Amino acid sequence: MADDTPSGAGLDLGVPTAARVYDVMLNGKDNYAIDRQVAHASLEVMPELKQIAIHNREMLHRVVRHLAEEEGITQFFDLGSGLPTARNTHEVAQEVNPDAKVVYVDIDPLVLVHGHAILAENANTRVVTADIRKPQEILNHPDVQALIDFDKPVCVMLVGILHHLLDEENPGGIVGTLRDAVVPGSFFFITNFTRLGDAPESAELERVLLSQLGTGRVRTPEELAAYFEGLELLSPGLVPLPLWRPDGIVRDSTSIAARFMTGGVGRKP
Ligand code: SAM
Repeated sequence: MADDTPSGAGLDLGVPTAARVYDVMLNGKDNYAIDRQVAHASLEVMPELKQIAIHNREMLHRVVRHLAEEEGITQFFDLGSGLPTARNTHEVAQEVNPDAKVVYVDIDPLVLVHGHAILAENANTRVVTADIRKPQEILNHPDVQALIDFDKPVCVMLVGILHHLLDEENPGGIVGTLRDAVVPGSFFFITNFTRLGDAPESAELERVLLSQLGTGRVRTPEELAAYFEGLELLSPGLVPLPLWRPDGIVRDSTSIAARFMTGGVGRKP
């Protein structure tokens, strides 16, 4: 990345961030040497991580399209949205419905810097810098309140973010606060790293991420299922990402690349 980062954005280039390490996985340009170092250490343990990131983005596209097209969802609350990359949530949702509202929230200030540039002329989309560990502050944020009508169904997206919260930060409780804040007919879309009993590298990756990035909890299928408590899971349930309503034939659903992340969509009854 060029050295023209806007000053005053609160960026510390000596500390890796999840958004920028993920950007490396997606072959983006918004990352620094320290992020590439963590990405390369992770790829040494699990070379499939780049393909896993692609599976994650592809599921995001399918879910947003499905909810906008088939379920009439017009509001998307994308928490831990990451740096802008190819086909963001607002592009997919507003392709179906140009009036769809999208609020991106991320803790990394670089997301806001790049988001402003991309969204300068999009009145139906906002980017907020905030910490999901304080969900009530996010819900009350003026930019969130300005765009999202909490009296109408909303899709809360927690895509690839909950594994960046430690157990003591109570990710389940955060999901619960958000669940209580939205009306019935709202959806939760969650994907997460999954501990694979037959693949020791899933535990090894957790060790590398926790020591070098400070976050990256690889959770069991049971821990992930608990995030959907009180919600009705849409078929096919909580599954390896490529298996969630695929557009075509899934050729490989048994590899680590297919199974290391699982995801699902739940509806608040
Ligand atoms: N949701 C995008 C996707 O799945 O393609 C990006 C996922 S990226 C792996 C995880 C994102 O969560 C990063 O952009 C990171 O900055 C953000 N994040 C991590 N902890 C956060 C927190 N406490 N509050 C808000 N965002 C957070």
